Amino acid sequence: MSSKRFQEFTNTTVIPTKKQNRKLKKLVKYAKTHSPRIAKLYETIGDEFTLQDLPVTNKQLIMQDFDNWTTASDFTLNELKAFTSNPNNAGEKFKRKYSVCKTSGSTGNPFFMAYNPIESEFMAKHMNACMNSTALLYGPSVFLFPISQHMISICSIKKSQRKYPLIKNSLILQESTVSTQEIIDRLNEIQPAILVTYTSSAELLAGEQIKGTLHLNLKAISVGGETISAKTRDYIQDAFQCKVRSIYACTEASGIAVECKCNHLHLHNTGLILEPVDEYNNPVPVGQTAYKLLVTVLYQKTVPLIRYELHDRVTVHNTPCPCGNKSPWLEVEGRSAIAPFIFKTKTGEVSIFLLALLFTVEAIDAVRRIQVVLHGYDRFECRIDFMEGADETSTFEKVKNIFARCFEQNNIDNVQIYLSDQKPQIDLKTGKFVKAYQIL
Ligand SMILES: [Zn+2]
Repeated sequence: MSSKRFQEFTNTTVIPTKKQNRKLKKLVKYAKTHSPRIAKLYETIGDEFTLQDLPVTNKQLIMQDFDNWTTASDFTLNELKAFTSNPNNAGEKFKRKYSVCKTSGSTGNPFFMAYNPIESEFMAKHMNACMNSTALLYGPSVFLFPISQHMISICSIKKSQRKYPLIKNSLILQESTVSTQEIIDRLNEIQPAILVTYTSSAELLAGEQIKGTLHLNLKAISVGGETISAKTRDYIQDAFQCKVRSIYACTEASGIAVECKCNHLHLHNTGLILEPVDEYNNPVPVGQTAYKLLVTVLYQKTVPLIRYELHDRVTVHNTPCPCGNKSPWLEVEGRSAIAPFIFKTKTGEVSIFLLALLFTVEAIDAVRRIQVVLHGYDRFECRIDFMEGADETSTFEKVKNIFARCFEQNNIDNVQIYLSDQKPQIDLKTGKFVKAYQIL
């Protein structure tokens, strides 16, 4: 681990290593030759340049002209859209070659990624880095996620399953958008040694473990997708009597940082160059919270991401970590965890996972963004940002059905689901955007 060399974070700039600079030059050359859109964007960029000479890019810029942005000539955005519209294709190969992801994320419009076999190998390697390689010796690992979604973690697992068919009993994908009871039954039956899921799902299951409905003997829990607070971590660790490890990852760039025993998220992927910047793309010094991150993925040629915006508020630290890992570490504020919602049924209270359902809703093309608020136990407010030109009535019907089905599965029959006249909004007290919360 300590032999890896990472970029240097100074107070005024980020300095890639020599190796990273070499790879960057190659990537830029390749992109200019094979991507008409990038060739145009880099018109004034010669052979000698530094990272900071390159323009900042983002999801909107790439999606505006996706077919000209990609360096591949064997697929189009429309074909990608068609492929991802079928949930059965999640994690399967596109054109017998590419791993595909679709993300709605927190900034609206869907974004598509396609990784060739070499790229997806890198992706898988860095996504799985949060898992101890000896973990499988302890017993099965369960990945609890919305498995019909085109997510990078699903691609990685299905890839491993295709490569090593015998591993299917050890690496298990469990659908998370089923009833809580079904998840509990299934987990009790499998008795996994390792559980990989969202923070909010782990938190909910911790409650079930304490109640005794769930009786797992886990060796470790890996969480991602949402920031974990010290309080939540302690709660989950106490409930399962095992270590909770978090990973900071995103669809575009895969695993970025992995947590150590001191709960610091250390960089672990030298194939990425990260730049903490402010609103106007000026560098933010070490130790200060950046407004966003720019990421350059050095091994990704199919859909090049160079100085690409990630909307997470991150603080980079260079101070030595007692764990001995010499790589810089991050504090990530961006995505806060969603607490489970509590509903009342005839037989008592039920807690529900919502993050997975929210992803399902945001996968609907006409939905740009959703925020849900549960008032008391029975008034379920949906604040929806629709895409331009969307049929709001029929789209809301679809959204409503997704939640209604979940409530029905959990025997919750007294909830009113309604479309709000308000749009998703940040919490005025904390200044944070919370996708889902309950007001009791
Ligand atoms: Zn550490």
